Amino acid sequence: MPDAEVAWRMATEAHSQALRRWCSAVSSTTGESGYGDPLTQPFWDAALEERLVIQRCGSCGTHQFYPRPFCLACSSEDVGWVQASGGGTIYSLTTVQRQILPTLPPPYVVALVELDKGPRILGWLVGDAPPEIGSAVRVAWTSRDGSSLARLQSG
Ligand SMILES: [Zn+2]
Repeated sequence: MPDAEVAWRMATEAHSQALRRWCSAVSSTTGESGYGDPLTQPFWDAALEERLVIQRCGSCGTHQFYPRPFCLACSSEDVGWVQASGGGTIYSLTTVQRQILPTLPPPYVVALVELDKGPRILGWLVGDAPPEIGSAVRVAWTSRDGSSLARLQSG
């Protein structure tokens, strides 16, 4: 197998593992599993202080979210954490009409927001302003069961 193909497969597997860990940590907000994954722990620690942090590559400066063990732009493993402003614009959105979480009755809006530093974050959108693609939003925080959950505030 050519080296490039081996490297691609290894990067793909590392990405898949990071995504599984991230989804596991996110599902812990519904009480399904625990926190503490070394890759995502800085995010959860900052969330307890109601701060949004994202990764920044030390080699090329690219920002990324959700957390991964390497930079998506240049594959460097020199990725650290920086504080995001919490501001962004709605890239896409949908209204959820079916009950998925027992604690979150529909309808509610889920938005994909492009943060000021570039990465996109998916979240529950709240606020009085009618949501529209391109509208400005900010990350806001809700405390629940000893953790802080990020939500997206419009208007
Ligand atoms: Zn990079």
